[in-house]
Amino acid sequence: MPELFDQYHYEPKNKSVNAIIREFEKEYQEIFELAKTKWNHSIREFHRDATGLKLSRNSSIGRGMTIQIRFLPDEENQFIKLIDEHFPELDFMEYTKIRSLHDALIHSDPYFQIGEIGLPFQQLVDYCSKYLDRYNLKKLHSLLFTEMGKSKDVLGAYYFKDSRIELYYVPLIIFSQIHRISLEHLIVVVLAHELAHAYHHIGFDTDGYQWDEMSKTDSNIVEGLAQYYTSLFVEDQETIYPGVKDAYLELLAYQTVSTRATASLCSVIFC
Ligand SMILES: [Zn+2]
Repeated sequence: MPELFDQYHYEPKNKSVNAIIREFEKEYQEIFELAKTKWNHSIREFHRDATGLKLSRNSSIGRGMTIQIRFLPDEENQFIKLIDEHFPELDFMEYTKIRSLHDALIHSDPYFQIGEIGLPFQQLVDYCSKYLDRYNLKKLHSLLFTEMGKSKDVLGAYYFKDSRIELYYVPLIIFSQIHRISLEHLIVVVLAHELAHAYHHIGFDTDGYQWDEMSKTDSNIVEGLAQYYTSLFVEDQETIYPGVKDAYLELLAYQTVSTRATASLCSVIFC
């Protein structure tokens, strides 16, 4: 597996990225596994019911088409290299904490304007504001996600060649941190999108046919279909898991109009 092996040949310069990779098994793997077990099942059920497509030609004869799901740090280290190029010193966890603190300080500002606490309080607000100016969220997002998303997969991918889904945990964790959304729900949205690709590609329709030509179809149609069924799934989950919709809306907000149709944050690989 040369591509798996190569993943570990690049040593990230950014220490917080290194920590994510080092601590992945301890800190985050459980959340990803949850997506693979609990969520994978309910997303598949939803896609089956919503599309009428089944992974088995005849559900009474057991095993149907299999979809492998893999967690990798990044797609060929491209996202990690982008961080090293633009933000080698940025600690993403520190960034998240300072953003939360800054918001809390601004909200509680009227209660700290008097007495001896006034000055240190203002100094703390200034410190946070200066830090957040240096790492402006829009700039951060645009350099790490939007630009790369125009041509590459950032958060996940579906491979037509062997019906395989890859989820890239470094960008997923960082996206959830800087946007302060649930990592679990972010993974769910990306997985729902990639599984939609899988159903549209290898699912059997009511006549027992698979849509083999899907891999040669215009990417706007392929992505538009996946996006549509992802949005239906999000709507379906909205009441019980509002965090899923929060994650979906956060993803949408940062996709440009031109890239929404091609779902730049999670695209397909035609190979
Ligand atoms: Zn896609």
